Amino acid sequence: MKNQRINMIGPYLQRKFGGKTVKLALDGGFTCPNRDGSKGTGGCIFCSGEGSGELASDIPSQIALLSDKWPSADKYIAYFQSHTNTYAPVSVLREKFYHALAYPGVVGLAVATRPDCLDDDVLDLLSELNSRTFLWVELGLQSIFDETAQLINRCYPLSVYDNAVLKLNQRGIRIVTHLILGLPGETKYDMERSVRYVTTPNNILSDMRGKGSLLSEPPVFGLKLHLMNVVKDTRLAEMFPGYEPFGSIEEYIGLVCDLLEIIPYSITMHRLTGDVPRSLLLTPEWSYRKRTILNGIAHEMAARGSVQGCALGQ
Ligand code: SF4
Repeated sequence: MKNQRINMIGPYLQRKFGGKTVKLALDGGFTCPNRDGSKGTGGCIFCSGEGSGELASDIPSQIALLSDKWPSADKYIAYFQSHTNTYAPVSVLREKFYHALAYPGVVGLAVATRPDCLDDDVLDLLSELNSRTFLWVELGLQSIFDETAQLINRCYPLSVYDNAVLKLNQRGIRIVTHLILGLPGETKYDMERSVRYVTTPNNILSDMRGKGSLLSEPPVFGLKLHLMNVVKDTRLAEMFPGYEPFGSIEEYIGLVCDLLEIIPYSITMHRLTGDVPRSLLLTPEWSYRKRTILNGIAHEMAARGSVQGCALGQ
């Protein structure tokens, strides 16, 4: 069904659950193995001490916060956002996830994590949850290029992502992959290659599954495209003072539209820009104008006569 130019997750959830369904950004009290030394130290260079969850809190606080913006919403996705939300003993994960699911109005669960934090016991729990509720797992890949991964101190190679996608696909668990647009050193062509890699049905994963098992569907349920924001008190801000990922807001809007044209329409879009509190933002200065960016993308897609995936012949 292509009644919209972009298959955004908001309308998707509204259709699926029969009413406005909003995500509650939760801080489950987890930490990150890329900070405590078990995978790396210092964290990814763009990540604040909040583990990319500056706006996250608990369920009642989030419902109160969002009730002004979405007064009609009474269905929620409990979104464990801050840090690495599978980085704890399974007994702890089980307690936190089921506690959230028991909250009135919660109809689904989203779990943001690293692909190197999905041991078999965690996957078993996620499979169990997947059979009981609407679940997706978010993987912070950011780029397919190992050079970039080293620069941003991601501390795992692409093969780890591939393996996690394979295991989640085998269990039928939805995946939402994060990519960052405007990482230092990356060109538009690099960003296109990352997008094509994570969204293309017949990529390296089909080889890992064995001959004759080519995927017919994209390996991911959703995609988050983050505008590279330079946030105060991050290593990125120290390493690249004054870094501007794009020449202008118009350039960014044009890039996102170009990318949307090569993303299969069946993939839900969960983010098209950044979301950092203005008080923490260094550059790009225009990033806080989120509504302007999103409207600009919508207008540009309409002006082009484009629909998500149109360059794929869809
Ligand atoms: S972006 Fe994620 S993996 Fe990287 S340091 Fe922050 S919380 Fe850890």
